[in-house]
Amino acid sequence: MQLSNDDLSQLDEKELLNLSEDDLRRISIKLLTDLKEARERLNQNSHNSSRPPSSEAPWEKETQQDDSSNHSEETDKSDNKKPPPTEKADKEAKQSSKNKTEEPRKPGKQLGAKGFGRTQKLAITHYHEHVPETCGCCQQPLNAKLKKATTAFETIDLEWANAKTSGLRLTNTKHTYYEISCHCGHVTVKEPHRSNSVDTLQEITCSQWRLVGPGLASLIICLSYRMRLSRERVQEFLSDWLGLKLSIGTINNTLHESGAAALPIQEELVKEIVASQQLHVDETSWMELTTFLWLWVFSTESVTAYWIATRSSELIDNILGQAYCGWLMSDGYQVYRTYHKRVRCWAHLIRKAQGLQEGLDKDSQLLGEKTLNLMAMLMTAIREACTHPPNTPLTERYQTQLIAYRQLCEEMKQSTHKKAKALATEMLNDWEAIFRVLEYPHLPLTNNEAERALRHWVILRRISYGTRTEEGSCVFAILISVIETCRKRQQSPWVFLATVIHNRRIGIAVPNLPIAKGSE
Ligand SMILES: [Zn+2]
Repeated sequence: MQLSNDDLSQLDEKELLNLSEDDLRRISIKLLTDLKEARERLNQNSHNSSRPPSSEAPWEKETQQDDSSNHSEETDKSDNKKPPPTEKADKEAKQSSKNKTEEPRKPGKQLGAKGFGRTQKLAITHYHEHVPETCGCCQQPLNAKLKKATTAFETIDLEWANAKTSGLRLTNTKHTYYEISCHCGHVTVKEPHRSNSVDTLQEITCSQWRLVGPGLASLIICLSYRMRLSRERVQEFLSDWLGLKLSIGTINNTLHESGAAALPIQEELVKEIVASQQLHVDETSWMELTTFLWLWVFSTESVTAYWIATRSSELIDNILGQAYCGWLMSDGYQVYRTYHKRVRCWAHLIRKAQGLQEGLDKDSQLLGEKTLNLMAMLMTAIREACTHPPNTPLTERYQTQLIAYRQLCEEMKQSTHKKAKALATEMLNDWEAIFRVLEYPHLPLTNNEAERALRHWVILRRISYGTRTEEGSCVFAILISVIETCRKRQQSPWVFLATVIHNRRIGIAVPNLPIAKGSE
């Protein structure tokens, strides 16, 4: 905008009538430029700009549904350093929500608040006695008749449908732990296993002494993340459908313990990412209570992994290092630019070109049109080249067109039209990454893969307002990584997670991720 609000407020009819012809012309040009820019902005939608579909009114979305373009802008923020547009709506929703206050509040039970013991008594379905067998001192067998109970607790678990049984079955096992005195005088005590060898989540203990069993924990993870239910809704579901009363605290602790249990899997995920031939990376904004962060996704053929971190190069450096040799598909964000084998998503560029073409500025319209024509022509050629490798490389065949287009970008780089200038600059800065696909036509043209992997969690973000603690973010990221990776491999994340939790509770290593179905 050339005229500020302040300038405009000072202009009125009288003022204009008093201006000299020269001044009048000058101001008309400014007014015309501003008017065109304002009109263009009015016509923007998710198909021709970086506006996310979520910022559109429902009726606007309706009319666009037949255009089945998969290019969600949910994750596009290439020219958006501001908080996401959904944040305002989130804030309003927050204010109207009775449980949410503006004051940052520590999650869970507040210090000094009255505690509530467990009041629900469920019938016991199984008994499990834990009796020491040999003396911890002299190694002699112990006399089971001398056992004395030391502790007992109940674990509620879920057995779910498999090939033989159908439906869900809730079990309640009473675990009793005993001690026995040996004739040597030593008392051997059997105790529930506890482990907190988890490096980054030290405060969480994986223990057998848990009310929620591994299968039930897996259901809680499923409801919270895959079904995107809030803790309150999970509580409601368990109560209504399983007759099980669990506190919000227990549900939350279950998620945190499960995340801690799954944490060692991160190493396997990173290894697979580093070894991949082709990697899609993308980020979307994320709130951790009041901290503005990003949810990153790394997607390969066999892995979908997430991290919540700042939008610096640190995370990507930590994961990929300089050793990554595969193809990296990303948006134009600069942290990716150090990778040589990088390719750019064309969908983003096409949307921007579309915006220019639909605009009002003639030169910019031309840039938009030329960009769209060139890309459409090249896309046809690339698709053909995939099935019928050409005799002359595409870069050679289209050399004239590419040189002409580059010339146009060089010219438009000087344009006064902000968006045209931005597109021309982006094209020139990232030229090699954008047109590399001409040499390697088998490479993907869009980053849809990564954008799709973020979409589910963008909706969850709107429901849950993000995460609330660093630990919560860590737990969330590892659990959704396991869920999405298992789903990508067409394996049940729930059976796998139940095994992970079970193993870690009794102190054995986590199993490897299941292999993709069909490659077993
Ligand atoms: Zn003994």
